[in-house]
Amino acid sequence: MLKRVKERFDLHPERLIADTAYGTGPMLGWLVDRKIAPHIPVFDKAGRSDGTWSRADFEWDAENDQYICPEGEALKQFRRNYSDPNRGPTGKGVALYRALKLTCQICPSKAKCCPNADARKITREEHEDARQVARDIAKTRQYDISMKLRKKVEMLFAHLKRILGLGRLRLRGPCGANDEFLLAATAQNLRKLAKIFPAPQQMRKA
Ligand code: SF4
Repeated sequence: MLKRVKERFDLHPERLIADTAYGTGPMLGWLVDRKIAPHIPVFDKAGRSDGTWSRADFEWDAENDQYICPEGEALKQFRRNYSDPNRGPTGKGVALYRALKLTCQICPSKAKCCPNADARKITREEHEDARQVARDIAKTRQYDISMKLRKKVEMLFAHLKRILGLGRLRLRGPCGANDEFLLAATAQNLRKLAKIFPAPQQMRKA
C-alpha cells in the first residue's frame, strides 16, 4: 500500500497508525528503517503476571550492549572478547543477557527478580530498538491524537459492517470485494455529504 501511494501520489508518510496486530518486532523494524514513525501499540509478551520484575523494569544501555537491573547490576550477553567473530554478538535473532550468578545469589531483591533461577536472564529480540521507538512514541501527546484518529477510521468500518450490511460480501474474488466496498464507501460518503449540506426544506403550501 505504501509503495502504491508513493507511486501514484508521490506521498511518503511520516507516521503510520495501526492497532496491536501490527505491533510486532519485524513490522516495527520495517517501518523504522523507512523513517516512518510507528504510532502502534507494541505487541509484547515479555510482561509477567506473577508480580516479579519484567524486562521493562530493566534499563537498556545501548552503548555497552547490556541491561542494568533495578539493583544497578549489569546483565551481559558476553563477558569476554572472543577471537572468533562468529561467537560474538551478531545483531541478529534473539540475544540472551545474563546477570552473574554470584551477584544474584546475594541480592536482596532476588525474590522480586528471579525467585526460581540462579541468576536473572533477559532476552532481546532483533527489532528491540524499533520496539523501543514505538514505546517512546506511545508516551507522547501526538500518539493520543493518533489513537483518536484510528478510532474514527474504525468507526467507519464498523458502520459499513453493521449498518450498511457489509459483514458478508455477495460478490466473489478481490474484484468483487473491491466493487462492493467502493459502492458502500460511496454510499457512506454521500450520507456524510447529505449531513454536511442538507437539502433545502420545501415550504408547505397553505
Ligand atoms: S537478582 Fe540479580 S538481576 Fe535481579 S535485581 Fe538482583 S542482582 Fe539484579
